[in-house]
Amino acid sequence: MKLTMLGTGHAVVTGYYNTCFVLEDEGQYFLVDGGGGGFLLNRLDEAGIPWHEIHDIFVTHKHTDHILGIIWMIRLWLAALSHGKAKGELNIYGNEVVIEALRLFTKVIFTEKENEFVDHGLNFVLVQDGDEHEIIGHTVRFFDIRASKILQFGIVVDLGEGRRLVCNGDETFNDECAPIAEGATWFMHEAFCLYSQADVFKPYEKGHSTAKDAAQIAEGLGVDNLILYHTEDSNVGTRKELYTMEASQFFTGNVYVPEDLETIEL
Ligand SMILES: [Zn+2]
Repeated sequence: MKLTMLGTGHAVVTGYYNTCFVLEDEGQYFLVDGGGGGFLLNRLDEAGIPWHEIHDIFVTHKHTDHILGIIWMIRLWLAALSHGKAKGELNIYGNEVVIEALRLFTKVIFTEKENEFVDHGLNFVLVQDGDEHEIIGHTVRFFDIRASKILQFGIVVDLGEGRRLVCNGDETFNDECAPIAEGATWFMHEAFCLYSQADVFKPYEKGHSTAKDAAQIAEGLGVDNLILYHTEDSNVGTRKELYTMEASQFFTGNVYVPEDLETIEL
């Protein structure tokens, strides 16, 4: 299994694309979030991932920087389906708020003919807390991250041999979810900024964390590897070094601070 970060920034950055990523296993792709717009298609192109080979998408929550890129995937898929050119189907997984928003967008933006393929080729899959689905050959469990701002789900991906990846979306981890994430092989957590710059970026007012906070959470959960993302963009070029240095003071496992388009072997 391979993880490719398409974007690693928070909602209003310009130095990175918004946070979204692809999990890939044996030529099968699972897209998690879409970033904030059509630039998703550039990122997929740069990563060498054909959009028409993505058959599974999960949207963590309905915020602009996660959901709007998905409209472009829907556009491409509905066009392909309505012209009889689609190979296979597209499943879009999301909680009730996400699915409601995507259904509404789709209904008002796309043609009546294209809308005939909704749930008949382009399938909205409503997920509840604890639901499991087989996606790209792995069991994926969806969980409510108990976010403060809006209903948001994360995922636990079974990597086999007792290994698992936990993605906590873009808000600070809620202790109530500890049983889900304890001892994970890979833990993906947002780091809005450095602790040393918290007074500048004010992460706590936005339900976000610093690299230090994320590291302390990861240490408490006893995970092996911590992936930090969804950051500000004032440290482009030095972010990896700075965030890794800060997080490593509080977390004894491996710290990853991927750049946009960076790939990690899981
Ligand atoms: Zn976000």
